[in-house]
Amino acid sequence: MTRVLTLVVAVCLAVSTASAGKAVGYVAGEKTPIKLTDINGKDVEIRTAKAFRVMAKAARKKGVDLKIRSGFRSFAKQEKLYKQYRRGQGNLAAPPGYSNHESGRALDLYVTDHKAFDWLQEHGATYGFHRTVPGEAWHWEYLGNEDKDAIARDSKKTTKSKSKPKQTS
Ligand SMILES: [Zn+2]
Repeated sequence: MTRVLTLVVAVCLAVSTASAGKAVGYVAGEKTPIKLTDINGKDVEIRTAKAFRVMAKAARKKGVDLKIRSGFRSFAKQEKLYKQYRRGQGNLAAPPGYSNHESGRALDLYVTDHKAFDWLQEHGATYGFHRTVPGEAWHWEYLGNEDKDAIARDSKKTTKSKSKPKQTS
């Protein structure tokens, strides 16, 4: 009995703790090694994480707080969600091995108000993020091709306004 309890506790801890480092991801059913990092306790693939951090910083300047609800998913996690979906519980879920949460590209964000959604609709693509599942306002995928010029212009503008040179007369 004690042994069972210990095991349950260990499993719960493993589930709730983000595991930065190497992991096995899946792209179109094929195993692929991916690297994870931690954003507020969530596992996120490193390239997606880098792009997300840039985007979240820009959003914060506009008073929009972007938070991740779900990032990288293991095969086992996706399998669980898929079974739930097939039972009629939970959101639409791709079969295990075929979710972009397993490739590391997809992020489910807390989109709790129109402000966050409108900001993402208008600016997400600038940072390489696209909404790929109709009807899922929270599901955004990092597809790359961010507008580096727009991002650079944006950060330049901010630096300038902070230390604005005096107008010469
Ligand atoms: Zn999703």
